[in-house]
Amino acid sequence: MKDLINRRNFLRSSVLASTSICTGLPLSGMEFFQNNIAFRKEGSFSFKLGDFACVCLSDGGHSYKVEDFFSNVPTNLVIEELHKKGFPTDNVWTPYTHLYINTGENHVLIDMGAGQLFNTTGELLTNMDIAKIQPESIDKIIITHAHPDHIGGALDQTGNPAFPNAEYFIWKGEWDFWYSKEAFEKAPRIFIELAQKNLDPLKDLMHFIDHESDILPGIKMISAPGHTPGHAVVAISSGAESLFYIGDVVLHPLHLENPDWLPIYDIIPEKAAQSKQKICNLLSETDAWVIGQHFPPFPSLGHVTRHESGWEWLPRKNS
Ligand SMILES: [Zn+2]
Repeated sequence: MKDLINRRNFLRSSVLASTSICTGLPLSGMEFFQNNIAFRKEGSFSFKLGDFACVCLSDGGHSYKVEDFFSNVPTNLVIEELHKKGFPTDNVWTPYTHLYINTGENHVLIDMGAGQLFNTTGELLTNMDIAKIQPESIDKIIITHAHPDHIGGALDQTGNPAFPNAEYFIWKGEWDFWYSKEAFEKAPRIFIELAQKNLDPLKDLMHFIDHESDILPGIKMISAPGHTPGHAVVAISSGAESLFYIGDVVLHPLHLENPDWLPIYDIIPEKAAQSKQKICNLLSETDAWVIGQHFPPFPSLGHVTRHESGWEWLPRKNS
């Protein structure tokens, strides 16, 4: 177990609270919902990472069935654990948390929101506006994977890029998968159609990454396949500080503590398990910040540490 006192000091010194009214866990179910409503009104959270200015941006979120998020476990056992953690137990509410990074040289966005996928999503641009970040200012967009909740906001209502001055980065295997015959065997047709519809107009602006190296100074894509065949994690570092944006390698904090509990959403479950092991070991060996893209509550920011046979989520506390 790491030194929590040092960790808290580190938290206080490096995270500059701005608009967030985030509270750490545990929360009662009612407090959780009250806070989530507030989060969705103020869906941005700013902090410094070394010399980089970062902002967590909410696109809203969605409630999933408990048995879909934890498909191979008796539901009553999951409900018991959700209750212990202060989460709602009738469903699994997940925020859709994105990250903006101003490196001084570049204005980077990680994933583009779900668009109008659900009536509880599509808030990314509004929250960028509140945070005074203009879509035109974004010059680099990194795509962790091409599921609809990550690329659904790529285009505006006229079918043109919602971020008109950006170039894009995606793992080559991810792009190839969504344009392959294999996709029709492994993914719902609607996912394939949404991926192609949103990615087609970006093709000439896309960088296809096939090895792990810095794509921008201090920003690197790390291969973490399984959830989708070309899923990538983004590692960001500036000065002595680092942050991992883990996309959907882990969907919920309970998947950390219970590595054998599996969601239905991983396209290649064996590879997803290997990637979870690789990435979580990496996270737990450092003091790095972590954004679990779907970790409740927004801004989904915390640390991962070792815990028994798995890992544990240490959410950022109010300071
Ligand atoms: Zn997702």
